[in-house]
Amino acid sequence: MNGLLQDPMEKRKLIIIGSGPAAFTAAIYAARANLAPLIYEGFFSGPAGGQLMTTTEVENYPGFPEGITGPDLMEQMRKQALRFGTQILTEDVTAIDLKSRPFVVTGSTTSTEAEAVIIATGATARRLDVPGARDGEFWQKGVTACAVCDGAAPLFRNKDLYVFGGGDTAVEEAIFLTKYGKKVYLVHRRDALRASKIMSERAMSHPKIEVIWNHVLSSVEGDNVVGSITLEDVHSGQKTKREAGGVFFAIGHSPNTGFLAGQVAVHPNGYIQVKPGTSYTSVDGVFAAGDVQDHVYRQAVTAAGSGCMAALDAERWLSERRLI
Ligand SMILES: Cc1cc2nc3c(=O)[nH]c(=O)nc-3n(C[C@H](O)[C@H](O)[C@H](O)COP(=O)(O)OP(=O)(O)OC[C@H]3O[C@@H](n4cnc5c(N)ncnc54)[C@H](O)[C@@H]3O)c2cc1C
Repeated sequence: MNGLLQDPMEKRKLIIIGSGPAAFTAAIYAARANLAPLIYEGFFSGPAGGQLMTTTEVENYPGFPEGITGPDLMEQMRKQALRFGTQILTEDVTAIDLKSRPFVVTGSTTSTEAEAVIIATGATARRLDVPGARDGEFWQKGVTACAVCDGAAPLFRNKDLYVFGGGDTAVEEAIFLTKYGKKVYLVHRRDALRASKIMSERAMSHPKIEVIWNHVLSSVEGDNVVGSITLEDVHSGQKTKREAGGVFFAIGHSPNTGFLAGQVAVHPNGYIQVKPGTSYTSVDGVFAAGDVQDHVYRQAVTAAGSGCMAALDAERWLSERRLI
């Protein structure tokens, strides 16, 4: 089977929306359970294959002692899902009707029905859009949005590292990076951190962390990799160029839930709410997996684990209702 959709209007037992580790793991489990899942892997919504398509080496995914590139890892997962009979549509889900049964899933060019749906559309790391930090410039050549993922790379060892943000995540990432960098600068556009008091104190008392207040990133420069950055004082507008070995954005993530149009309950920060310890959402028959429901761990292996949970939950749900 080539995985291409033969009959888009056919009713499905299970549709999976997304294409990262959560979606493909859910598909592997669901396909092996004979649920013949259909994946909408996205097209304009983000790189098909998910966030790991934007990175180089992945060194913390178990099973690859020498590391594997993000795109290679995702290609392997996609192949494994196809091998067991998953069908894949390379288009975005633009709308979904969760009030009707079966659910109606509308893609860019198709419309399908499904008894159960797994949402695994991930979250998009916010980036600062400044010269030098964009795709094709120094993005992933010293500029990144995930310290836990990339911080241990040799590129950052004993260098001056800059973290941008002012919340708990920014502080956590700065502290994490002190293990690798010569010095870590936490740059914030205001004169006080948004992070909790205890986290702020930890950052400010850390011997390897210095907070730079009231500054924003103006540009990133270098040859092949990041070599320097230019900061701008938000009050005076004065620009300062500083030596830099790494730039880490810690300004939050946006879960990809726009197409749900408010039909599934979300936390105040926008992440989908699941019943603790499960993938059940507020809508019966709709399950969520991966970063779209996880604002804490946000790793490939945790996304894959929750994809497995969602497939098992969906299978049990379908079976209890004699839909399979
Ligand atoms: C630069 C970077 C480096 C990273 N490095 C590592 C690492 O080394 N190790 C690690 O464990 N983690 C790493 N991560 C984190 C890891 O990539 C994520 O935790 C993981 O990819 C989340 O998987 P996911 O399945 O939830 O969704 P995602 O990987 O976010 O994939 C979701 C995908 O769903 C699709 N989609 C979105 N909306 C729609 C729609 N409406 N219709 C159809 N499809 C849609 C898009 O293609 C989207 O890309 C890194 C993240 C980044 C940004």
